[in-house]
Amino acid sequence: MPKYKLEYIWLDGYQPVANLRSKTQIKEFASFPKLEELPWWGFDGSSTQQAPGDKSDCMLKPVAVYPDSTRKNGVLVMCEVYNSDKTTPHISNTRAGIPDDADAWFGFEQEYFLYQDGRPLGFPDNGYPAPQGPYYTGVGYKNVGDIARQIVEEHLDICLDAGINHEGINAEVAKGQWEFQIFGKGSKNCADQVWVARYILLRLCEKYGIDVEWHCKPLGKDADWNGSGMHCNFSTKHLREVGGEAYFKALMGAFEKYCNEHIAVYGPDNHMRLTGLHETMSIDQFGWGVADRGKSIRVPHSFVANGYKGYLEDRRPNSQGDPYAIAGRVLKTIATVPTA
Ligand code: ADP
Ligand code: MN
Ligand code: MN
Ligand code: MN
Repeated sequence: MPKYKLEYIWLDGYQPVANLRSKTQIKEFASFPKLEELPWWGFDGSSTQQAPGDKSDCMLKPVAVYPDSTRKNGVLVMCEVYNSDKTTPHISNTRAGIPDDADAWFGFEQEYFLYQDGRPLGFPDNGYPAPQGPYYTGVGYKNVGDIARQIVEEHLDICLDAGINHEGINAEVAKGQWEFQIFGKGSKNCADQVWVARYILLRLCEKYGIDVEWHCKPLGKDADWNGSGMHCNFSTKHLREVGGEAYFKALMGAFEKYCNEHIAVYGPDNHMRLTGLHETMSIDQFGWGVADRGKSIRVPHSFVANGYKGYLEDRRPNSQGDPYAIAGRVLKTIATVPTA
């Protein structure tokens, strides 16, 4: 039987942003393993800020599995962290408790910077490159450099090989900044894919001597350079099939009411990014607008044209946000609005 390389991936206990961790175990399977066939595993939680040294065991529960085309017989295994009783989710486990619904669809637009020598890829040793303008969806060496597109393309292929549902990629507004979009049905399913895509990107960049900077405003609050978001596009069955202006207005009322709860899980340092400039709305306001990229929630033209049916875009989540917590919060708020 072939020996498979099972890469168990999990989120550690660092605050405010968890890091991805992983380690490999080798196991024999007759063919590519199914999720049910993958055993629980453990790790030393005292090295990941997940346990004290004298009770260091944390448990890994496989929750999603993807082929890894970069390794012979490679398998990527996304895991949740449990306490040693294998029953109670570890306090750092943000996936276990979120609402889920296979009819709730999510599209995350993950923005990020590629970094080398402490600055965005393509920035000169000192100072700044030419101002923003030509970089967004740009082409040509002076706009996107030489290595970045290679990384972005390789990342796309590895993700597609893994069955991750990329819907697109593009160069972003700042130099060295890129985006990928992932669509998935169900909060956990979509968020798992985002985390694994992040993992694949980090690992891929190792061989280039490049890091991924996920911070939402790595060049500072006041720099005239865009920050990084992770817009959360969402729709429920009701929004897609019934919708209506009254329901939409009630939904926006709920998003306004729970504004603070949303911001709390939309990623750290978001006050640096949600300033009212650079295609954002100020962090202490809530507003929606049709095709308006300066609002918290952008309503696509098609949504209104179709009788207030379709999907909405929450533009507030940032690039460092936890997609489990973000999708979970969106579903919690939606659940407060009656559909009758
Ligand atoms: P933009 O950059 O203009 O905001 P993108 O094309 O980058 O738009 O992202 C749009 C996202 O919306 C994609 O991730 C896509 O998967 C998502 N999306 C499209 N339709 C739906 C839907 N019905 N429900 C949830 N997400 C959707
Ligand atoms: Mn986009
Ligand atoms: Mn974007
Ligand atoms: Mn967007």
